Amino acid sequence: MGRPRMVDGAPQGEEKRLSKEDSLRPKSLADYIGQSDLKQVLGIAVKAAIDRGDALDHVLLYGPPGLGKTTMALVLAEELGVKCRITSAPALERPRDIVGLLVNLQPRELLFVDEIHRLTKVAEELLYPAMEDRRLDITVGRSSSARTRTLDLPPFTLVGATTRAGALSSPLRDRFGLTQRLEFYEHDDLQAIVERTASLMKLAVTPTACLEIARRCRGTPRIANRLLRRVRDVATVKGDIALIDSSLVDEALKLHRVDAIGLDASDRRLLQFLLQKYGGGPVGLETIAAGLGEDISTLESVVEPFLLQLGFLQRTPRGRLLTDSGRLHITNIEAS
Ligand code: ADP
Repeated sequence: MGRPRMVDGAPQGEEKRLSKEDSLRPKSLADYIGQSDLKQVLGIAVKAAIDRGDALDHVLLYGPPGLGKTTMALVLAEELGVKCRITSAPALERPRDIVGLLVNLQPRELLFVDEIHRLTKVAEELLYPAMEDRRLDITVGRSSSARTRTLDLPPFTLVGATTRAGALSSPLRDRFGLTQRLEFYEHDDLQAIVERTASLMKLAVTPTACLEIARRCRGTPRIANRLLRRVRDVATVKGDIALIDSSLVDEALKLHRVDAIGLDASDRRLLQFLLQKYGGGPVGLETIAAGLGEDISTLESVVEPFLLQLGFLQRTPRGRLLTDSGRLHITNIEAS
């Protein structure tokens, strides 16, 4: 696929620096916009943990990138009045990496592990007793003189995040007391997120312009914030723009080939491929991947989820099927 997509929920460029995203993150449950079920469940769990003076039960958050999993972990820590240590599974390759993190935890602190489905077997096996019995079994010494030592850990909360809950081993999945899925956001919540970000960036943006960005960000706050930054670029280059309106949003996002509902060139190519080459399908994922020169996992985890969510695509046992609304969208685009 080459260059990063404007409408991909994974962090890109400056968003990869945590500090950059931190400046836009809500800090409390009350500021965290949308995801009402998630907030309700976790709000109750936080209150109960505080009342008991115990650590919050381990939490698994899953859902597409950019929906607010890391943000929620930081909010939980803030609500509990403790620190949150942030890491990701690929950084925990050696046993000593995870041991180092666990032994340094203070009582009731949060340990956030992103991409938790990518933990190595060894790291997982160290985590099981740590999560279940607050116990760390470590091997000291080598070969014949090696012994196992057990360390007690303080009560702590592991918050795991993953885009692929199905890829988690079942023993690991079973050790989370709370498993919550993050949903794509509705337009009104996204509009509120864009308005909030605009005010943090000290930008004057009309409510309709915020809604216009909300419609194009694929239900994903990170993309909403990114689109707003690209709109700001255009406003900066033009110079004398005191108020960003929807026509400026439209102009800026056309430049990046993001259409009125947030589809980009890769999405349109997939829909067009299904329609033109296979009359709408069903077509196997391997065939689509080969036809478009994409890899299967990118299609499955990046391109497809939003097309499925829009109802433009359907997964069937015989492959991917273009729906009537998908057909209509692509036909309208071709006609315009
Ligand atoms: P994930 O960990 O799921 O990939 P993040 O928590 O890093 O996503 O969120 C990406 C960005 O989106 C954050 O910088 C934050 O500003 C914004 N964001 C996410 N969820 C919300 C929300 N509910 N309200 C406001 N902003 C949000």
